[in-house]
Amino acid sequence: MNKLFKYTCAHSEIEITILSSQILKLQELCNLSFPNETGGILIGSYSPNQKTANIILITAPPTDSKSSPNTFIRGVKGLQQQLNIEWELNGNYYLGEWHFHPNGSKYPSSIDKNEMKKISLAKEYNCPEPILMIVNGKTNEINISPYVFFRNGSFASFS
Ligand SMILES: [Zn+2]
Repeated sequence: MNKLFKYTCAHSEIEITILSSQILKLQELCNLSFPNETGGILIGSYSPNQKTANIILITAPPTDSKSSPNTFIRGVKGLQQQLNIEWELNGNYYLGEWHFHPNGSKYPSSIDKNEMKKISLAKEYNCPEPILMIVNGKTNEINISPYVFFRNGSFASFS
């Protein structure tokens, strides 16, 4: 069954949901990449009242991404096409990024924070409050920690 997981934040009215099928996909992608970092983007949509971000799809790392045990630079190859298809077929759009810290921290690094601030300000993303989903842990034992970033560089953590 495709169960819905829900994340909330004590300091925000926003809720984030993700389907269990996508969590399984995260687990598989992290297993494949371990001990290297990996990541991709989050695709979905907000509820009509803008309070719930529904993550419908997580993408695999684009083939032009670069990764090591403590760095990940997400590539771009194929993402725009995937976003176009999702928009046309399902009305879904870019919601943010996911990022695997193998044996690492559940908190965003300073590089992660800078990247998310850049994305929140970038016209081409059209996403002023992007989500960063940090996945930490090891093979078959991942833990998911979502964050929402704001344009002023602050962020809210969800659990
Ligand atoms: Zn990171």
